[in-house]
Amino acid sequence: MAWNALYSSAFEKIRSRIRNVGRVLLAYNTNIDAVKYLDGGDLERRVEAVGKDEVFRYTDELPERIENVHQLLGSILWSIKRGKAAELFVESCSTRFYMRRWGWDELRMGGQVGIMANLLGGVYGVPVIAHVPQLSRLQAGLFKDGPIYVPRVENGKLKLLHPRDFSGDEENCVHHIYEFPRGFTVFDLKAPRENRFIGSADDYNPNVHIRPEFHEHFEEIAGEAEVAIISGLQTLTKENYHEPLETLRGHLEVLEERGVPAHLEFAFTSDEKVRKALVDMLGLFHSVGLNEVELASIMEVLGNRAIAKKLLTNDPVDPVTVTDAMFKLAEKTGVKRIHFHTYGYYLVLTGYKGEYVRDALLFAALAAAAKAKLGDVRNIDDVAKAMDVPVNERVGGVEEALAEQYGMREGIAEVNGHQLAFVPTRIVVRPKSTVGIGDTISSSAFVGEFALR
Ligand code: ADP
Repeated sequence: MAWNALYSSAFEKIRSRIRNVGRVLLAYNTNIDAVKYLDGGDLERRVEAVGKDEVFRYTDELPERIENVHQLLGSILWSIKRGKAAELFVESCSTRFYMRRWGWDELRMGGQVGIMANLLGGVYGVPVIAHVPQLSRLQAGLFKDGPIYVPRVENGKLKLLHPRDFSGDEENCVHHIYEFPRGFTVFDLKAPRENRFIGSADDYNPNVHIRPEFHEHFEEIAGEAEVAIISGLQTLTKENYHEPLETLRGHLEVLEERGVPAHLEFAFTSDEKVRKALVDMLGLFHSVGLNEVELASIMEVLGNRAIAKKLLTNDPVDPVTVTDAMFKLAEKTGVKRIHFHTYGYYLVLTGYKGEYVRDALLFAALAAAAKAKLGDVRNIDDVAKAMDVPVNERVGGVEEALAEQYGMREGIAEVNGHQLAFVPTRIVVRPKSTVGIGDTISSSAFVGEFALR
């Protein structure tokens, strides 16, 4: 069967069954993204007002964290000068206040949990229970309508409420995103490409702060869930990772006891010690989702430097190398499902078999293309609008290599007692938005699988 036919049949099957999926527990990171599109004149005036010399000191080297307005403006200039992204923690209250007064053009849901809650609950209508480290009114307002719940404890009893009914008056966890286009000019600096600088006024998500409801009532919360997706651990460092990972271990044990399979959305974790600790815990998860950079970074900490290097040299990434890496990871950790995504195709290695695993990938690829094409996907019918985005032809070689090496047909092969499933994706040439597209892919594929079981 041609890919187009496989795509439409997979979509129809999942659309008719996705509402049968039970509650999805999402933990731990949710924040507010406040996006400011920089204006050259405004930025110059701000730099002059606080002292250009002092600000320019930071255009050569970023500070470790932001302690004053000079460092904030200097760090933004550092990003512009190089066209490189950077993210720093904003420590000082007065600088946070300065950023608030400077304002934003757009507020967006941020954090993987927030993004997935809006997609699964708000778009697909799959009920979710979300961990929101701090529920301010601003944060609550970013949740879509739909079956999205947060736990609240009243008189010792657990209730599940929509975030807007939580009436939380907690802190704002704001990630101030300062965006600039390619060629953006300020003083004598010119951005070689578009990018952003992020100043995080957030004391909660970087440390994976876990709410008291989740400490004290986790068994009950887990009892309400059918599957779980864990994310947001990438910001941990060797200084602060012990406690949150111990709590996570406890949570995973409870989920395991209750037969709730958990997926880890593995984002790039720069601290090698934390990355290693996460790999060591992977056996407690049913599933993991990652891209080529993340898979390579895991191969590095497992001591497979050669594979890591190969994963990053070819474009599109060589699927046989990816499969080797996935087998290494599966053997080392015992994780039953590994979902790899890259620009142009997805692969998933599972310890179980069935066409539904591939069909869930097709659904995810359609959702990703819809997101890239439309920016905001309002409902599941919007996902179908991506059917006219062409299936990526550049990965023909990838499909051939998989057929030759593993005898793959229609995206499915049996390899060493495992199933390997592949799909070529639909690529939007001029995407409206690619923010959170990885989260869209992983959560759609994971939940799609449960819809078809
Ligand atoms: P992020 O963390 O920004 O979401 P990821 O690397 O996890 O980034 O996910 C990006 C994925 O999105 C890529 O692997 C690719 O499959 C998909 N993708 C990126 N750009 C497009 C596009 N224009 N059209 C369709 N899919 C895209």
